[in-house]
Order: sequence, then C-alpha cells, then structure tokens
Amino acid sequence: MALTFNLVNSTPAGGRRARLFLPHQTVETPVFMPVGTQGTVKAVPQDALESLGAEIILGNTYHLYLRPGHEPIRRMGGLHRFISWPRALLTDSGGFQVFSLSQLRKVTEDGVQFRSHLDGSLHSFTPEHSIHVQIALGADICMSFDECTEYPASRSRAEESLRLTMAWAHRSLAHFRAHRQDVPWFDPKVCRTQCCFGIVQGGMYADLRRQCAERLIELDFDGYAIGGLSVGEPRELTLEMISEVLPLLPKDKPRYVMGVGYPDEIEQYARLGVDMMDCVLPTRAARHALLFTSEGRLNIKNKQFAEDQNPPDPACTCPVCRRYSRAYLRHLVQAGEPLAATLNSIHNLAFYLGIMQRVRASLASAPTPISIDP
Ligand SMILES: [Zn+2]
Repeated sequence: MALTFNLVNSTPAGGRRARLFLPHQTVETPVFMPVGTQGTVKAVPQDALESLGAEIILGNTYHLYLRPGHEPIRRMGGLHRFISWPRALLTDSGGFQVFSLSQLRKVTEDGVQFRSHLDGSLHSFTPEHSIHVQIALGADICMSFDECTEYPASRSRAEESLRLTMAWAHRSLAHFRAHRQDVPWFDPKVCRTQCCFGIVQGGMYADLRRQCAERLIELDFDGYAIGGLSVGEPRELTLEMISEVLPLLPKDKPRYVMGVGYPDEIEQYARLGVDMMDCVLPTRAARHALLFTSEGRLNIKNKQFAEDQNPPDPACTCPVCRRYSRAYLRHLVQAGEPLAATLNSIHNLAFYLGIMQRVRASLASAPTPISIDP
C-alpha cells in the first residue's frame, strides 16, 4: 500500500481530522506543507523545520530537474537522502513552473517545450517525463502533469485546457503505475511505494470543475488536488470552486488545495474539509519583512519597532518569539543580515503550523457544526 488515510473525526460542515500514513511519515491532517522549492525551504534549515513540527514539505520538480538534475538526485538515493529530510515529501508536476517561469514555451498535445529560465536551454515535459522525473526524486507523493489554466480564461480556453489536463492525467497515471517500483527507496518486501494524486482543473467554471473531478475519480488516483487557484481571482471565486469540488471527492482519500493561502484562508478551507495545503506566502513574506501574528500583519521594517523590546508575536511560543525582540528583527532587516530571513521565516511557519494544530484539535473534538467566518 502506498497510502492509508484514516478519518479520526468529521464535522457536519465537512471538516475532517485525519491521519495520512505515508512511506516516510504519518501526517496529521489537515496539514500545512511548507514549500521547499529547490530542495530547501528558503532560509530555514531542516532541523528547524523538524522542531516546528513540519511533517511534510514540498519540492519543485521543474527547479530540481534543471538543477541539480533528477538523475544525480536518484543516484544519491532520492530527494529525502539528498536534502537529509527523513519525513514526508511531495513533488509538484513541474507544470505550474513551466507555465509561470520558463521562456518560449510551446504546448502541444504531447506536452510542453520550454526554455530554462536559468540558461535558455531547450527542454520538454510530457506527462511521462514529469512522472519519470518525480519517481527519480522519490517524494512520498507525486502529482499528475497538468496544465494550469490562467486567470482570466475564456470558457473555450478553459475547456481546451481541461481536455489536455484529462488526457495528461491518463498518461501520467499509466506511466506511474508501470514504473512506481523504480522509486529510489522502493522496498518490495513491505510494498513501500510512492503514491500519485490527480489535479482538478477547469478554470473558474464550476461545471468544468465538477466534470474534471468526476472523470479523475474514475481513474482512481491515491488522492485529489484542486489546482489552478490563487492565480489572481477574487477570494469568493476561490472559495466557490473549492466548495463545488470538495463534496464530489471520495471521503476516504486525501484532498489537497494547491498554493493557498493567507492564514484565515487555510483555516477556512481546512474547516470545509481540505486536508492538505501548501503556499510560499509565509516564507516569501518573511523575506520581505512581513510577519503574520496573532495581532495581524506586522511590517517589522517599520521605524515604530526600532526600540520595541516585545517578542514579534507575544502569543507565539516559537523559538524566535521566545528569544528575540521586534527591535532586533528590525535591525537585522535594516542591516541586510541573512539571519533576518531565517528568523522571520521560522516565526511565520510556526504561525501557519500553529493554525493547523488548533484546527486539528477543534476538528478532533467537534461534535456539532463549526461556524465558518467569511
Ligand atoms: Zn513566533
């Protein structure tokens, strides 16, 4: 078995407290997954992530494929061993970055041709190649190769994109099923293998989203993601798309909303029944001196903090808030010290992981519907 998903409790609003058994880690859900784009959650060492209680992090297939390359990583035992991360990993399909970062991309029925944003070299990703790369990287969870529909997109454009995503989902899964035993840490004795999630697309058209979900479920993926959200659409639309798709997805498999969101969003979606989320926001904001706190957002660069001896967030028990003052963090930012990015990121991740911890506790004990604040 690649994956076991055990529901612990669920609420009438749809929220689920569950446990996801992956080859490298049992993950308590709903879970927030820090993003480790290039084999590192930017500025945060692995031992700090472990101390914060991160159970699963992301790696980006596009970046790792271009540098250092999936074959060297495979030869070194896979991504877990290469980056010294013993817990769970998930890799995206590379599709999103191909569409957002690379130059001169050309989409055909077969896949995508693109030029590297690093050196302009020519590459191509097909569903088979994306899965091949992801098997070499060897994350616990790999993702079907999809085309992320841009926003805004016309109905005909969203329909065409959906057609391509479905064709690619078939091919991704066929390749995955034929080659999953090639994962660097495959152990035939315990049937310890990777698992593969399908991705629901369909732009901002509810019926296309539902259609995509229904057809993906027939393929019997190990879990289901909702992709193509947080691409510039208003938040009501994000919520509408999630609410349309969630009830259709199988109750006994994990549900993952990709690339969201702000602290109140991840809490809201978790209470509706989203089990997994990832976002660069806590670490990206941290590198821009923006802290998420129980008192709201704090721009730690501001002069008002120059002699503020309080911890960044008085309600936070993270190692940064236990030890350092707002004045010191501001000084580090002002002086351009790399430690600023590290400390700010550790606090923001602690804040995000703390939200999920509280949501899990309330979902575990909730006997009645949970109110959802818009
Ligand atoms: Zn803190």
